[in-house]
Amino acid sequence: MTDCIFCKIANKEIPTELIYEDENYVAFNDIAPKAKTHILIIPKKHIERFDEIESTEDLKLTEWLFTVAHKIIKQKNLHGCRLQVNCGKDHGQEVFHIHLHLLSNS
Ligand code: 5GP
Ligand code: ZN
Repeated sequence: MTDCIFCKIANKEIPTELIYEDENYVAFNDIAPKAKTHILIIPKKHIERFDEIESTEDLKLTEWLFTVAHKIIKQKNLHGCRLQVNCGKDHGQEVFHIHLHLLSNS
């Protein structure tokens, strides 16, 4: 999607240091961290919000965000974290491209 900031990060149109990348996902530091470690993990595919997913393919892609989070937790040797997905404006979602927040103070 042309107007989406996270698509632009995933497509490298906006240069951002990537903490993790594979065929389907990227992870990068939140621009306004709310913990010592605050990483956003996103699918490269533009999916707007978790609660409105209709297809099995998009649901599977989203489930794997937790697998990527687990890899990063191990890689960074984090002990204790908070994983959060906001769905909808009234529940704190500001960027409408699905992302998993990984927050840790360890
Ligand atoms: P949401 O509120 O949608 O769940 O989370 C969006 C997050 O994206 C916020 O924590 C915000 O700080 C972060 N964010 C917004 N724009 C950018 C950006 O351009 N770059 C990065 N790295 N993070 C962003
Ligand atoms: Zn997008």
